[in-house]
Amino acid sequence: MSLGTIRLHWVRVPLHEAFRISSGEVSAKEAILIELTHDGKTGWGEASPMPGAFYSVETPEGTWDFLRRRLVPWFLENPQLDPRSVSEQMPEFDGEPFAKAGLEGAVWDLAAQRESKPLWELLGSKRCPVESGAAIGLMPTLPQLLDRVRRFQSEGYRRIKIKIEPGHDVELVRAIRERFGNISLMVDANASYSLEHISTFEELDRLGLMMIEQPLGREAIAEHADLQHRLRTPVCLDESAHSLDAIRTIIRLRASRILNIKVQRMGGLGPARAAHDLAQSAGIRCWLGTMPELGVASAQGLHLGTMPNFKFPSDVEASARWYVDDIIYPHIEVSAGGTIDLPEGPGMGYRVDPEKVARYRVRLEEFRT
Ligand code: MG
Repeated sequence: MSLGTIRLHWVRVPLHEAFRISSGEVSAKEAILIELTHDGKTGWGEASPMPGAFYSVETPEGTWDFLRRRLVPWFLENPQLDPRSVSEQMPEFDGEPFAKAGLEGAVWDLAAQRESKPLWELLGSKRCPVESGAAIGLMPTLPQLLDRVRRFQSEGYRRIKIKIEPGHDVELVRAIRERFGNISLMVDANASYSLEHISTFEELDRLGLMMIEQPLGREAIAEHADLQHRLRTPVCLDESAHSLDAIRTIIRLRASRILNIKVQRMGGLGPARAAHDLAQSAGIRCWLGTMPELGVASAQGLHLGTMPNFKFPSDVEASARWYVDDIIYPHIEVSAGGTIDLPEGPGMGYRVDPEKVARYRVRLEEFRT
């Protein structure tokens, strides 16, 4: 089978504001878009690691290199257009979930285009609005944090998530509770605490949080089980839930009551759907996280986010929340009721804008068969 063309577009879209978490800061969104053309149809995927390796070991440079040197050449030799099995067909390359998610996403989109079906249907889900929550990074001052909470509340987001780190936690939550009352609120610690901070968690436990996300280290599964046992507030695991095997361990140890499932970290829509199903069968509720991603990966995530065990608002926000621009049209928008309604049409429903891709592109590589 002659596959056609694969183009890799490395794009860099400026952020409105830098995003700061406990381990670092970014000011532009980098992503590698994978454009897969076959038989007159085009599918798009997105590999979206954060720059600077502060969130994960994968970086845009490493992902670009892996795609162009190994994954795309392998794919061209082993063309696989069935998205239901493409990630299983990928050889046992170590790691590189972002690159795999990008290529797999392009295969899903292409298959949906060829079948003239929306992605949610191909994924075995039903069309429904996806609830959206706003995430706020570590802010320089408390008044700035409170101002952001006010803004996102007024924009309709269904829950507010704030980042915390040791020394900046309980008093932030208390201040939000004093100002805004009993709003849907959660915190994300990005693995920055240890069990020595138990008194902090006991204080947070009295503040009616929806969940406490990734309080302890990535590998601290048993410690999370211990912490969850001591708290009424659900613990949610994010960084720790990095593979199906890791999720099986979390379930076996009952280390959290909630999981944050990220398509990019899981290596694609197929593995992320498998994680959703695994959690569902174990009675663990999920929600759909992001890196965050540009429009292609966000849109594809939203299609997966229609599945029934995604029980909490997603981290997928409006395109305009982070980016001065996005490479899809229409842009992703959040309704006054705090939901995102998927557009009609095959694949993502959203379309990639080639002019925008060219405008923000910093590197291009093309492969033909
Ligand atoms: Mg998180």
